Amino acid sequence: MAYKLLNGKEISGQIKTEISEKVKKNIAEGGKRPHLAAILVGNDGASETYVAHKVKACEQAGFKSGLFRFDNKVSEKELFDKINEINNNDDIDGLIVQLPLPEHISEEKVIQFINPKKDVDGFHPVNAGRMTLGLPAYISATPQGILELIKRNGIETSGKHCVVIGRSNIVGRPLSILLSQKNETGNATVTLCHSRTKNLKEISRHADILIAAIGKEGFVSKDMVKEGAVVIDVGIHRVKSDKTKSGWKLKGDVKFDEVAPKCSYITPVPGGVGPMTIVSLLKNTLLAAEKKIYG
Ligand code: NAD
Repeated sequence: MAYKLLNGKEISGQIKTEISEKVKKNIAEGGKRPHLAAILVGNDGASETYVAHKVKACEQAGFKSGLFRFDNKVSEKELFDKINEINNNDDIDGLIVQLPLPEHISEEKVIQFINPKKDVDGFHPVNAGRMTLGLPAYISATPQGILELIKRNGIETSGKHCVVIGRSNIVGRPLSILLSQKNETGNATVTLCHSRTKNLKEISRHADILIAAIGKEGFVSKDMVKEGAVVIDVGIHRVKSDKTKSGWKLKGDVKFDEVAPKCSYITPVPGGVGPMTIVSLLKNTLLAAEKKIYG
């Protein structure tokens, strides 16, 4: 089958332009320049890269951004003091704390300490709850980006069987909820699979839209995919390569080479879901600056 690539790089570029135009317009009309603050703890290579991409995307879209760095030994108290300061700074619209955090710091407590009105990652229980009920909320960036990628490629979700593999709070679970909601990017029949699912292959083989958010490189093989399916690969894995200058390359949760020929659409890794995640964070920050969610 001739498959089409779901080009997240290209679509996210269009969205970034739309966002920066909206920012210019808002400022010309006396509105506020969106301002995103990011907190980074430690020196994890992947986290450094993600935060650097987010800060760069802010600059490209005409946002203000601030990066607050702490070393691995930072106490919860120091972190909470910084979050408190940002929560109370009227110029800062959105705050993200890059995960994972060191073991001695409770991610749950940190997320709950962020003011839900500034929680542009959409991880706070208030936003997760409002999203679940279909109320205005910051929707977490990866699920939001995936839905936008599906929508902008004219892929119908209504009445389709969507199989999501992975039930994390930041990807699989919210995605399963959003796809089942009664709206333009929902109305699907959703099966959420996870590490305790039996007969996973039998289930995934029935998916019209298969979303892999497992965190295991090359987990999805061709025998797990129906002919003509739409396959969305959320996974990001750095694997060693002697074909690149850096000595590594990015791979996903799907065995792209063998799965793609069975698909109608498939996301590449890199250049699929990743860039869509970043523009969705910008979108949420713009909504925060415009006070569109909480007024
Ligand atoms: P996670 O580790 O929190 O969750 C993985 C899920 O996969 C779990 O719910 C688990 O039940 C399920 N799982 C594990 N083994 C399984 C098995 N054998 N069979 C069925 N299900 C199984 O991961 P996450 O945070 O959701 O991230 C998933 C992947 O997506 C990672 O590779 C991560 O790096 C990547 N990611 C990418 C983006 C992006 O912007 N592209 C954003 C977030 C995460």
